[in-house]
This record gives sequence, structure tokens and C-alpha cells, in this order.
Amino acid sequence: MLLDRQITELLAGYRDGSIDPVLVIEEAYANIKAHSQNLNTLISVVDKEKALKELSLLDKNLPLYGIPYVLKDSYVTPEIRTTCASKLLDDYVSPYSATVHQKLKNAGAILLAKGNQDAWGHGASTENSDYGMGKNPYDPERVVGGSSGGPAAAVALRMCSFAIGEDTGGSIRNPAAWNNILGLRVTYGRVSRYGCVAYASSMDTVGPFAKSAEDLAVVLGIIAGLDKYDATSSPEPVPDYAKAISTPLKKLKIGIADDMFGPGLDSEIAKNTRAFGSVLESMGCQLTSVSLPIAEVALAAYYIIAPSETSSNLARYDAVRYGGTRDLFSQETMRRIMIGSYDLSSGYYDAYYRKALKIRTILIETFKQAFKQCDVILMPENPIMPPKLGDLISDPLANMLADLYNTSVSLIGSPAIVVPSGFHANGLPIGVQLVGQKFEEATLLNLAHAYQAKTSWHLTKPAILEKKV
Ligand code: GLN
Repeated sequence: MLLDRQITELLAGYRDGSIDPVLVIEEAYANIKAHSQNLNTLISVVDKEKALKELSLLDKNLPLYGIPYVLKDSYVTPEIRTTCASKLLDDYVSPYSATVHQKLKNAGAILLAKGNQDAWGHGASTENSDYGMGKNPYDPERVVGGSSGGPAAAVALRMCSFAIGEDTGGSIRNPAAWNNILGLRVTYGRVSRYGCVAYASSMDTVGPFAKSAEDLAVVLGIIAGLDKYDATSSPEPVPDYAKAISTPLKKLKIGIADDMFGPGLDSEIAKNTRAFGSVLESMGCQLTSVSLPIAEVALAAYYIIAPSETSSNLARYDAVRYGGTRDLFSQETMRRIMIGSYDLSSGYYDAYYRKALKIRTILIETFKQAFKQCDVILMPENPIMPPKLGDLISDPLANMLADLYNTSVSLIGSPAIVVPSGFHANGLPIGVQLVGQKFEEATLLNLAHAYQAKTSWHLTKPAILEKKV
């Protein structure tokens, strides 16, 4: 399949005439047609004729000329509706583009579709969608992960070259791991959030999914940087990520977060994550143990701060300026609005919200200490493998536990990359999480790239893809 190739390979093929970009777009649409409806991968699809027309008008010298992508349906696009997977926004078409979309478009990439997700980013499975529960391409009886489940599956199913997700408390990392692809949660502020439907504004981040670290580097180089429309975007210079990928791996110190291998962690995931560490060691990295006894407390603080912020952000959907009425909010969203409003109410603010903020400060300090002993921290991405459809939605607490290892990273604002690291006995993919210091995306990409060069887990595609098309 043409879409098995990396972005740079496609671009080189377009340049020397060995690959026709029209055929790449056609292939993406064929995969969309074959799988999206069955698996509830996408919410809205751009007309094929429109995409091909766009391609025909593009300057061939653009850095992402003719590269097809999918956006999570939380990014506003004037070309096609933005629902955030909620019927409340069923017919909402934005008058403007999210910065991430505009930058990709300016670079010559072609938007094909908007991916399914948990509505408003609330969830870790894509079950909480008003457009059908997202199904896992590796086992359609199981969840795809979330909240950015659709965009992740779209990459796994070769419906695009790369996709853009959104990660507040794990929404890029979790579906990357469960779809055998890479996902990058960027440093808070690295990529503009302008035009991203807000969930929890102090933790929301915009980041890419791809089949390789190299593709992530190419995309990050385009979307990163200061944006006058997002006051929280950072003026930190954007390094040459593609160059960082190709530099030989430095002898990094990898901190293993031993505290995160405790009860509740699937034993095969534990083994797999430690084996990942051994591969890094064989590549010249040095392993060391770091103390991070914070997963549970981080999860508790996250589930105070995130609902508090979402209760405030969702107050704007008052049925005056935007279409549907508030009774279109799902149970999960109502639960979060109620918890958040309660946490912020006078009398409870100090007991909950302020306390959670104090925990956040302690977490920042704890990670600072850990990063004195290492360059990168290795931890599992998720304590469990993808459950059967319906299991998580009927057990909201279990749904939150899926974020156990993700939320501390979100609260401190650090970047983290998820890398495919093998398969579970049940046949489903596993991914591990590497956490870096702020604005050290280049280090994470370099490490992931070196690991991918040594292993081939990421080459295994969903079996349904091999059968069809
Ligand atoms: N599962 C987490 C939550 O529901 C993360 C969601 C996200 O990152 N958007 O809050």
C-alpha cells in the first residue's frame, strides 16, 4: 500500500514521478470507504472530488504537498462541520480555521476527514461519541481508545498519512498505544490551541499521530510555534526536528518510574515496558530507577482540575449562540459539568480545587527532582488493554483509571511520546510512554526513531486491512 510509506518517501516519490499523489488520495478514500462506517472511525468526510481538486491547484514545492491527513473533530474547519462528537454541534460550521489546520493547509497537506472521538474529549475509549462507538481496528469488539480514537485508527487503517489529535489527560497517548502507532503529546504551549474546542484549557495540547517518529518530526516542524491568536503558545524557537531525528542517538539516561509498575498494571504490559528499557540499554542508553510515587494522587488532582475547567468552558454552549440545547450533553459530560461546578463552588473550592492546584505544584517539583537523575522517563502508557465495547462506558471509574499514567504528565506540562513496543497475548498492540523535559520533543523523537530502526512492531498492520482493498 502506498500509505504504508512515510511522508518523506511519498514526497520523494512525487518529486521523481514514481508516485502519483492522486493514487495516494484515491487509496486513502478506498480505505475510508472500506472501514470507516464499520468501525465508526470518522464523523465527516470531505468529498473526494473536492480533495482532488485541491490537490490539482497546489504548488508542488510545498513541504507537505499532497500529503493526506485527518483532524480530530475538535478542530474548527470552515470547509466541513465540527461536531466535537456531540449532537449539540451537529450542524456547526466554523467561519474560521484552527491554526493547526491553517498551517497544514498552507504547507500543502490535504484534509480528508474529521475523526471520531469522545464528545468534548471526555473519555478514554471513543465510546462517549454521539456518532457511534469507535471500534478498534485490531479487534472490532474492543474499544479504539480515546478520546482521539478516530484519528488514531485512521492512521492505522491507512486512511491518511498522519492525523492530528488532542491530548488533555492522555487522549493522544492512549489511542496511539492501542492502535500500534506513535503519538506525541507536546509541551504545553508548543503548538497553538487556537480553534481547538476547549476541554481543560490549562492542559489541552495539539499533537500528531503517525506510523513513524520521522513523520511526527516532519509534522511537528510545520505545526509548532508561537501564534498571536493563542496567548499560551510559546515563543521558544522551533528546532529542526527532522534533523534531530537523523543525528546519532546520544547516550541518554533513562529513568524507569518503578512506582508505576504497581498493582493494577497488566503483567504483560509491565514486562513489555521493561523489555523496551532493555532495548534502549542495548542501544547505549543507561537505565536508572527514579522515584515517582504520584500516579494515584495525580489522577485525583486531574479529575478535579479537568472537570472544573470543562464546566467553565462548556458554559458557553448556552443554546443562544450555538445550535442545540444543553440536554444534548451526554451523561459523561453532564457528570463532569456537575463535578466541576461543585469543586468550584464557594465552600468547596478550598477543599477540592485549591487542594488539587497544590498537588499540581508538588508534582512539578517531584518531576524536577526526577529529571535531575535522568534525561527521559520510561513508564507504561496504560494499566490495561482495550476493554470490550460497552465495558468502560458502564463503569466511569474504570474509564478514569485508564488515564492513570498519563495525567501527571498533563499536569506538569511536559511532552511525552508513545511508541509501539510489541503485542499482548490477546493479539492487541502495546505502546510505552517516554516523558521528556519541557520543549525536549527532539530528544523524544530521536529516541523513538532509534528504537524503531531496531524493531519492527510498528510494521504490523490491522488484519482487516490486509484482507480488504
Ligand atoms: N481520558 C481523559 C479524560 O477523559 C483524557 C481526555 C483527553 O485527553 N482529552 O479526561
